[in-house]
Amino acid sequence: MNAPLSCSSLTDLLVENVHALTTGSPSSGQRIQYATDPGGHPAIRVAAANVPMEYDLWEGLRNPAGVGLHPAGIREIWEFYAWRTASIRRDESGRETMFTVPLSYEEAALRFRRVLIVSVMLPFAEELLQEHNRFIREHARGASWQFSHLYEEVNDTLDRAILRTGMDLSSEQTVVVAMDRRAMDDISTQAIPLTRQGAVHGPEKEVQYPQKSVAVLTGLGQFGVSRFVFRDEMEGSGVRRLLGPIRSLVIFDETPLVEDGDGGILYPHRRWRKFLFSLADFTKTAEEINRCRFCSYIPLLDKGCGMCISACPPGALIRSTPCPKGEYREDLHEPKRFWRGQLQFDYELCRGDRKRMATLFPEWRCGRCITRCASGGRRRRRAVEEYEKQKKKLAVR
Ligand code: SF4
Ligand code: SF4
Repeated sequence: MNAPLSCSSLTDLLVENVHALTTGSPSSGQRIQYATDPGGHPAIRVAAANVPMEYDLWEGLRNPAGVGLHPAGIREIWEFYAWRTASIRRDESGRETMFTVPLSYEEAALRFRRVLIVSVMLPFAEELLQEHNRFIREHARGASWQFSHLYEEVNDTLDRAILRTGMDLSSEQTVVVAMDRRAMDDISTQAIPLTRQGAVHGPEKEVQYPQKSVAVLTGLGQFGVSRFVFRDEMEGSGVRRLLGPIRSLVIFDETPLVEDGDGGILYPHRRWRKFLFSLADFTKTAEEINRCRFCSYIPLLDKGCGMCISACPPGALIRSTPCPKGEYREDLHEPKRFWRGQLQFDYELCRGDRKRMATLFPEWRCGRCITRCASGGRRRRRAVEEYEKQKKKLAVR
């Protein structure tokens, strides 16, 4: 790899890989399931932040109601890689010894000058989400196999594209860990001690590597009140809302740290993190933060949104969100769901029903909240401008 990495060079590579994966495949001739940009290119979105090896990705976030008590940090990700690639030591005659020694985190910290964290979204095709939205309107309950197909296909494509891109970027000077779904699972079971695994330590959905939080940290998107991540962009006089699976690449490289935003790469300063904490906390309703939010749940000059909440059949969202004035309703004050003031998302309600139905119908999938948000969730053009302004101010020196 010769030229320094940038958001645009990474985007080009990912677009190429998605194209290669979906052209000439058995599903070609079918409708394209991911969103496209003018010209028909996959609407891949990439954001990147770089940090030193000792940077704590999860500072202030170790809360089982948030990312969990033991999320995987840079050390665990390195150790996962190092053990996978550890070579067996040989003696002077070339025979294998009993020693298998990985490159330690401490040695790696001397070698690599930065860790580049690249977050990638492959959004779902907007028109297919519109079709799912029509299904939702017509069916108060039930699941659409078309949505399930869309979900699986876009997720699989992104998994494979992220792995191919990781291979493309690996070099003598660069170690790449591609965070597809399997790597996320493997890191949890192989780099985190057994006593620190499991739902008791936090949300089990994304196990120990919360891709959504990484996407927020790198500036790829924002959390909505429903706790999924989406990205709003200005498009003509309106706002385009992109929503889809997220994966990432963790790149250990010998290039110096970038702090001036060169190549579109952020440095997540403490002030940027503080801003992001406020943005994701919907008990904070002050105008100066609310006007930067893509999610329009809290009224500003309009009457606020809440479409995802009303679309949730089992009521998981209403039981996981504060009211638009920022307080939690009386009936949500069950001590077992709060941890240091933060409310645990009601996974049991959200996933319980789906899990049970999926034992009968493997394609049973909900996704009503994301579909409603993508299709009709209220957008604010000014929020896109305000957020981008804050990003330049707080995440670039
Ligand atoms: S996936 Fe379905 S059940 Fe879960 S929060 Fe969204 S709408 Fe509710
Ligand atoms: S549907 Fe509305 S309230 Fe829900 S996340 Fe989207 S913008 Fe926010």
